[in-house]
Amino acid sequence: MTLTLRNVEIDGRRGLDVRISDGRIAEIGVGLRGPREIDGRGGALIPGLCDHHIHLFGLAARAESVTLDQVAAATRSRPPGAWIRVLDYHESQAGELTRAELDALAPRHRLRVQHQTGSLWVFNSLALDALGEGDDPPGLERATGRLWRGDAWLRDRIGLSPPPLAPIGAQLAAYGITALTDASVTTDPGAAARLAEAHRSGALPQRLTLMSGGPLTAPADGAFAVGPVKVLLDDHSLPDFDDFVARVASARRQGRNVAVHCVTAAELAMTLAVFEAAGSQVGDRVEHGGVIPAEAVPVLQRLELTVVTQPVFIAERGDRYAAEVASGDQPDLYRCASLLAAGVPVAASSDAPYGSADPWAGIAAAVHRRSREGVRLGADERIDARRALGLYLDDPAAPGRRLRRVVVGAAADLCLLDAPLHEVLATPDARHVRATLIAGRVVHDR
Ligand SMILES: [Zn+2]
Repeated sequence: MTLTLRNVEIDGRRGLDVRISDGRIAEIGVGLRGPREIDGRGGALIPGLCDHHIHLFGLAARAESVTLDQVAAATRSRPPGAWIRVLDYHESQAGELTRAELDALAPRHRLRVQHQTGSLWVFNSLALDALGEGDDPPGLERATGRLWRGDAWLRDRIGLSPPPLAPIGAQLAAYGITALTDASVTTDPGAAARLAEAHRSGALPQRLTLMSGGPLTAPADGAFAVGPVKVLLDDHSLPDFDDFVARVASARRQGRNVAVHCVTAAELAMTLAVFEAAGSQVGDRVEHGGVIPAEAVPVLQRLELTVVTQPVFIAERGDRYAAEVASGDQPDLYRCASLLAAGVPVAASSDAPYGSADPWAGIAAAVHRRSREGVRLGADERIDARRALGLYLDDPAAPGRRLRRVVVGAAADLCLLDAPLHEVLATPDARHVRATLIAGRVVHDR
């Protein structure tokens, strides 16, 4: 029940010992001893990191997927008729894909290809056959094999058992992550129950907060907390204004905040107009904030909206942004420093599997804002590494607003690093994570 972490650095103070009891920090001092001890060797002890926007089932499924250029190899290694799932496709790789191209690529397998945005699937003919006829969702075009925003229907039709979550739980623990907010609009009571079960079994040890499109009730044992209602916008067909206002009202009736997916400037403009009309509340969120024009920044501040950004996209997608986004609009991409300076609450996340799940890669990207090819995007939006780490340390119930700290009485959700914090932040990297504790239990020990 009791664990003592010895010789750690907390908030710049070295040589401290921390006694953990009943899942909480019971005492911080010098010369503390206990029956069970971990020698911190002078490394920093920080709150466990929180990923404020992640898609857990999508991330788990990624482990079983391939990229477009691995399809040929997959057709050789998997028996005819087997499913092959491709993630991360973008038209810059292979043009606009349709069913015919996929038939040529994999004539004897069931091939499905997901667009990098997650909003589009393309199927080959055998995959479409396997999905069956009738009851087609509005986003399905059989001639081209394309399905827009049809994940729930697809899951229903394929009936595949969900991928195991334990490898994801272990991977995230190795990054020092102790709390997760799943941002899937599709989370229904069934999906929520599977995540709760994974948490109870220890497969997914992190504390969970779940967004959802529809109603959701937290279980009595606290296996997950209910987060905001997620509103997913699609730039191809923005929703009816009154409809959107009604969705905000419905969230309020459920006693919930609203988190709106906003990647483009048009999506953000509509979102701000809806919050003006429906009223915003502290805790309402703009997810991504992919493009935020300068004039929208004071509006975000006035409406008290939190922006949950993904710094790692600048590194992972920066080369495409540099090529495709007009140079005049590039300063609007994934803003960070200008939001913080204007008093807009900001928190960070991965959006995994669409971005890397490694928060340390996100911290590094928030600091350097360089693409893989070394192009710097939005140099003025850079923040220092300490601030960048802080974007991952907030309470999941108050991203951008309530920093968690290593203090007596706090939950023992902790990340032990292998060096003092200033050294780690000079080269932010997950390799510095030595151990991760959730409610005082060691869930990762390198
Ligand atoms: Zn997302």
